[in-house]
Amino acid sequence: MNESPAEPCAPSPAAASRPPSAPDAQAAPAFADLHLHTLFSDGTFNPEDLAGRGARCGLVAMSLTDHDTVEGCPRMALACRNLGIEFMPGAELTAELDGAELHILGYYLDMENPKLQTSLKQFQAVRQNRIHEMVARLNRLHIPLRAETVFGIANCHSPGRPHVGRALVQEGFCASLDEAFDRFLKKNRPAYVPKFKISALDAIALVHHAGGLASMAHPGLNRSDDVIPALAAAGLDGLECFHSKHTASMTQYYLDIAARHHLLVTGGSDCHGYSKGKPLIGGTKLPAVYYDRLKERHGQGIENCELKIAK
Ligand code: AMP
Ligand code: ZN
Ligand code: FE
Ligand code: FE
Repeated sequence: MNESPAEPCAPSPAAASRPPSAPDAQAAPAFADLHLHTLFSDGTFNPEDLAGRGARCGLVAMSLTDHDTVEGCPRMALACRNLGIEFMPGAELTAELDGAELHILGYYLDMENPKLQTSLKQFQAVRQNRIHEMVARLNRLHIPLRAETVFGIANCHSPGRPHVGRALVQEGFCASLDEAFDRFLKKNRPAYVPKFKISALDAIALVHHAGGLASMAHPGLNRSDDVIPALAAAGLDGLECFHSKHTASMTQYYLDIAARHHLLVTGGSDCHGYSKGKPLIGGTKLPAVYYDRLKERHGQGIENCELKIAK
């Protein structure tokens, strides 16, 4: 689909001319979006479309955080570079702690890291097997959906429930994605299949192993704030305080928690394209100063690493 520019965005000058991050009363505020999905997982935009939309929103930095894959990152990196937008390769890992699902965002991942690649392939295999299980459950409910239809719609290595939902709509078994989730796919609904999840502590370790920084995604959606101290103690680097589903007061609440635990602040729209209504990109504005701190911390990490190696 080649749609008109996303609604929340206003035309803006090229991001390339961003002044240094020092406070400057004259400069227009600069923003980043560090939580985005493409059709390499369950988003509907390709990386080039997403980068183009980011440019039209005036974003100075973006990260692609597809579920359990970094496959879209090389294309997104190139597209962002051509548009003068800074880019961090990323991924969103589905994890759990004490039985609660939570999502860990990995930033500045070394995409070539062998352990990261092996782990992502395992997570993707789990996702693919789960599609077969969900379809089998639907078939037992006398819904003759075929796994091939879901895989054809997903057309990626990291398929998920939204693809099953889209298949149910396409084949006329449900009128909308919401109906598909409400009747079949939500937790405790008859076609819901839990999937193996890496422990959140292992997810943080994996991100660090791949040279990255780990941030807990959308804490306001998980309602599991009690795990934040344990994650911080385990080396969590950041907290996603800014998110499209966070109200202003939630954002402030998580900013306070991040400060208390010395966590970096991250944020993004969690845009999935047209998957769920209008695209969210541009609607959540992470002040670029937080992105700059992330960049600075990553730079320090690399230097420390090199120092250790030199010794
Ligand atoms: P999965 O990773 O396969 O369990 O799917 C999770 C994804 O499904 C989330 O990242 C959302 O994009 C999407 N999702 C979750 N709940 C809903 C819902 N009620 N309606 C539409 N999409 C949803
Ligand atoms: Zn998703
Ligand atoms: Fe998520
Ligand atoms: Fe997400």
